[in-house]
Amino acid sequence: MPFAGYECDGCGAIHGPDEAEYRCPGCGGNLFVRSIDSGTTREAIERSADRSMWRYAPLLAVPPAGPEHGVMASVGGTPLVPAHGAARRLGVKRLWLKDEGRMPTGSLKDRASAAVVRRAAAIGVDRVITASTGNAGVALAAMARAGGLDAVILVPASAPAAKLAQLGIFDATVVLVRGSYDDAFELSVAASRELGWYCRNTGLNPFTVEGKKTVSFEIAEQLGWRAPDRIFVPVGDGNIIVAVHRGFAELLALGWIDRMPRLVGVQAAGSSPIARAFLDGADHIEPVITDTLADSIAAGHPADGLRALRAVRETAGAFVIVSDEDILRAIVSLGREAAIFAEPAAAAAWAGLCAASSAGQVGDDEDVVVLVTGTGLKDVPAATRALGAHPSPIEPTLEALRTVLDRRANP
Ligand SMILES: *Cc1c(COP(=O)(O)O)cnc(C)c1O
Ligand SMILES: [Zn+2]
Repeated sequence: MPFAGYECDGCGAIHGPDEAEYRCPGCGGNLFVRSIDSGTTREAIERSADRSMWRYAPLLAVPPAGPEHGVMASVGGTPLVPAHGAARRLGVKRLWLKDEGRMPTGSLKDRASAAVVRRAAAIGVDRVITASTGNAGVALAAMARAGGLDAVILVPASAPAAKLAQLGIFDATVVLVRGSYDDAFELSVAASRELGWYCRNTGLNPFTVEGKKTVSFEIAEQLGWRAPDRIFVPVGDGNIIVAVHRGFAELLALGWIDRMPRLVGVQAAGSSPIARAFLDGADHIEPVITDTLADSIAAGHPADGLRALRAVRETAGAFVIVSDEDILRAIVSLGREAAIFAEPAAAAAWAGLCAASSAGQVGDDEDVVVLVTGTGLKDVPAATRALGAHPSPIEPTLEALRTVLDRRANP
């Protein structure tokens, strides 16, 4: 779909393709990408043999990735895993888990980074930069490698070891920042301005939403061109939930689905400024100092908070706040109930559903989707902590094995 410029969420201004780049030049608000209707149809999409996010290329304002772009061509196409047993226990009609842990780098961020790297190619840029809590940087490093660009990634020095290793493997210039994600964000914006690198930052670059909205296209198509009643989304900066909203809103405008899903944002108690604004009925987001083990949703000064608030309010959705203990328990219960291993931020969405359903906030006639945004392999120490002690080793004898099995049968 040809790129037509931008629309500001703050003041409503329309900007031409060359009149803006990151935020609104008028009011500083977040920009949506505008594109020209390509006239494509659901049937045309269904005929595509491409299972990746590029299946929806006619609905995207960036050039698609092809075989020459390696792993970038395989981003998307994650399964919508049915969880009927868990649905019964939670008292909802039907339940699915959108498993974004199966992405090339193990998180939903691949969708955004792939779109930004294709945008960089369209404008002839060969150097990209981003601040990241980890996953966005990993995704950008991988997609930049696949697309032949140089990448500079600024992450808080406290990022989980697996994410730092992934960054190194993809050969990006990795800069550990002594400070928070919010500090790294500020530094990356200044560096981008000063040095002219294209900045991918979440909540700054409008093309992250272009990529992430494809998760909604997939959910809708996987449900037979239908929106579920409710979607649980973990929220840090707020960009994913904005993109989920955008994807469904575009399908509704095309007449491909007949209603919006209710969006439920889930924040960690130690990083919940958007949820608090929602619960207070406020139109302003009060920044906080973050303190949560769910590093991917630790954003004290959310870069896309106002749009996230609006997305939730417009769909008559809600915000749920969960504790770190809830999140640890959710890592284990998601594994037990659905055989999916999630990192803490992704498990937070599951914790949010558990909390909302036990508080009677989800109807027993509802179809529910939980967005599982990243794999548990991203943060193994968190899972180990959630499980408690490691099992101790046994002698290699049948007798010792019997003792273990007896103990499991009669705990
Ligand atoms: C980035 C991320 C989130 C939160 O997305 P925002 O756009 O910051 O709200 C949630 N889960 C995972 C695994 C992430 O990487
Ligand atoms: Zn504006």
